[in-house]
Amino acid sequence: MRLVDSHCHLNDEQFDRDRDETVARALAAGIERMMVIDAPEFAERYSFMESTIGVHPHEAAKADLGRIRELAAHPKVRAVGEIGLDYHYDFSPRDVQRHVFEQQLEIAASAGKPVVIHTREAWDDTLAILRDHWRGDGIMHCFTGDEPQAREALDLGFHLAFGGVLTFPKAEAVRQAARITPADRLLVETDSPYLAPVPFRGKRNEPAHVARVVEALAEIRGLSAADIDARTSANFHALFRP
Ligand SMILES: [Zn+2]
Ligand SMILES: [Zn+2]
Repeated sequence: MRLVDSHCHLNDEQFDRDRDETVARALAAGIERMMVIDAPEFAERYSFMESTIGVHPHEAAKADLGRIRELAAHPKVRAVGEIGLDYHYDFSPRDVQRHVFEQQLEIAASAGKPVVIHTREAWDDTLAILRDHWRGDGIMHCFTGDEPQAREALDLGFHLAFGGVLTFPKAEAVRQAARITPADRLLVETDSPYLAPVPFRGKRNEPAHVARVVEALAEIRGLSAADIDARTSANFHALFRP
């Protein structure tokens, strides 16, 4: 196995008391690359870690886009994200979220880097903005949509990253989306410390659990875990060539 966790928040304070052990468990589980979100200085400490840079929609109202512009050129930064819209919590006003999202798409375009999209209860607005403002590669992170939404994202050229939600009993629509996604557009992630897969559901998630996501995807697609692992790792490498 040469697992990749395409999206984790290992710099989160929930890992403060045992971060080294968590990283060691990830390596022992066979993980060879991890993408941390908006933490390039943190990623600098580990050869197998890379980072995104970006203002989450929750933080849009206090966005420092100068910092994003500057760090987009950081050698550890492979993508701009997670950016997008979150109308579930509305922690920032929606018009501000849309504006900051569009600005960051521009930054990604001028840096020539893919985008990592977070969208929650804002699918139509997210797609409309991407159609108008984005022409490059990207990932729908923690994809929890259904088959029609998967097809819309795939039509835009996006990769779909699946996480622990795939293992939740009620997530049949998401499993169907994972079933129809072309093999060369599949990615896996944990979104640690959030969204732990069954049987860890409700507990703190960690990158080592990406193996559970790979197993779930293998079952859904009728392949071996090794096949899914090889495919999703190759997709990650192709998308984030240094
Ligand atoms: Zn997210
Ligand atoms: Zn995240």
